[in-house]
Order: sequence, then C-alpha cells, then structure tokens
Amino acid sequence: MQILLANPRGFCAGVERAISIVERALEKFGAPIYVRHEVVHNRFVVDDLKAKGAVFVHELDEVPDGATVIFSAHGVPKSVRAEAERRDLKVFDATCPLVTKVHLEVERHRKAGREVIMIGHRGHPEVEGTMGQWPDGMYLVENVADVATLKLGAGGTAPPLAYVTQTTLSVDDAAAIVAALKARFPDIVGPKKDDICYATQNRQDAVRRLAQQCDVILVVGSPNSSNSNRLREVAEQQGVKAWLIDRAAEIRPEWFAAANAVGVTAGASAPEALVAEVVAAVAKLTGAPQPEIAQEDEGVRFPLPKGLD
Ligand code: SF4
Repeated sequence: MQILLANPRGFCAGVERAISIVERALEKFGAPIYVRHEVVHNRFVVDDLKAKGAVFVHELDEVPDGATVIFSAHGVPKSVRAEAERRDLKVFDATCPLVTKVHLEVERHRKAGREVIMIGHRGHPEVEGTMGQWPDGMYLVENVADVATLKLGAGGTAPPLAYVTQTTLSVDDAAAIVAALKARFPDIVGPKKDDICYATQNRQDAVRRLAQQCDVILVVGSPNSSNSNRLREVAEQQGVKAWLIDRAAEIRPEWFAAANAVGVTAGASAPEALVAEVVAAVAKLTGAPQPEIAQEDEGVRFPLPKGLD
C-alpha cells in the first residue's frame, strides 16, 4: 500500500491573499472585523479566523455603522459595494483578482451592447457576484440542457451575445457547455477558452494524473467548496472512487479494503495542515509509509490591497 500526493494541491494565490487580508485587518484595526460571507469556503479556516476576532455575516445589514468589512474571495454584486459606500463602511476587498477579471469582462460586454451568458452554478456566491455586475441582460446556464432551453431577448431574435464562466468549473464540463453555446449562437464571443483560473485547471490536471496511479482518492475540502467538489468529480470520471472530506475524522477504514494506492489532494481553499493530518491518518490506518509532503510552487502571488500591505 502506498500514499501518493497530487501536485499542485491546496491553497491558491487568491485564497492566500483573502486570508491574509482578514489577518492583517485584525492586526491593524483589532477585532471585530466583519467578513461578508465565508472569506473562503473552508470550515477550518473560517473557525480559525473567528477565534482571532473575525465576525462572519451573510449581508451588510448585520454590520454596524462605522465598522470594517471584508468582501470574500468570491466577489460581490455591485449593489453590495454601493450599499457599503452609502453606509460609509470601511471596506477591504478580498475578491480574487481572477474573479475581478471576469467582472470586468461582463462590464466590457454590456457596455458594447452584448448580453452575457454566464456558465456557473446557481446560488454560488461567485455566480451571484458576477451576475450582479450589471442590472440586466445577464443569463445563467448550468449545463448543456440549459443552453437548449435558454430564452433570450424580447423579440425572439438573439441579441449580440458573449459568455463568461465561473472560475472553478470542471474544465471538461465548461468545454461542453461552451461548444453547445457556439453551436446554438455561432456569433457568440468570449474568452479564448473559458475563465477557469490557473489553480482550478492545475489541480484538475494533477488529480487526473494521480487517478492513473491510485484506486482511491481523498479530496481535502469543505462540502461548499466548488473547486473541491470538481476535484472529486474529475477523479471519479477517471474511474477511481473518490471522497471529499473536511477532516481526517471522516475517513472510513473500509474505503481502503481493496486499495493498493491511495491518492490525496486538496481544494484551493484547504490548508496544507489538513492534508498532513489526512495523510497521517491514512498511514496509521493502512500501515503505508508517509510520503514526502513537498509542494510545487505555482509562482502566482497577488498583492494585498492598499492600507493593508
Ligand atoms: Fe482565485 Fe482561482 Fe483561487 Fe478562486 S480558485 S480564489 S479564482 S485563484
């Protein structure tokens, strides 16, 4: 039995930056610091920041006047920014620059008169943020079937169209939806391929490689983490049994009964400490030697916002 680790895995540059923004704000201004929505989708990270004095809220009406508030890495609709400004809240924006890039694409397309189809998962905060960059002319599709039933424009003829995507989609699913959009709307414009970020792409490539060598894959990540769920799906699409787990305590010994090699990876919001915890637990359960924990540096860093650097 052996344990193999995916490379790269775990924290991306956007998540590192978002956590640093909350930590620096706490150091500089003291608790409480309000954070709209889970700053990144990981229970362990959120609990750690709560213990340091961060207060997580769903909406800005839960933030007292004059307080400091941080927007999560997933981005916010324009209406939220406007409300924060109207209420004179001190804002630090932890929106990942790669999500902001998609927001700017939406704005550019709408200003050019194109209506925008977003490919993403309904209800995810990144989708709400991106769809909220313009008050009208935005449509959401979640899958290929939605493309066929999509109703556009009032007069029955399609307006000029563009598409954008959520940054954490499955690369293969997104490609199939883009192909369906191009088949139905041949003049649609969009990014070269999609807006899936480097971290999502690299982690999916890595888990696909890992699946060639393993019988079972554990994905460390929280159930509400989009990119972690996609890693589990990508592993299963390769014919490997895969489980998404937050912590080592969720591991079941029967998962490894017929396994010769167990792979471990982690979503972009899951800390390396949890990977180490899971690897140690699998080693203890199976008697497999612990692998080298080393990680590849993807060479991407995002600066902190002004006032916190
Ligand atoms: Fe940014 Fe991608 Fe990380 Fe999301 S997963 S925070 S888009 S780098």
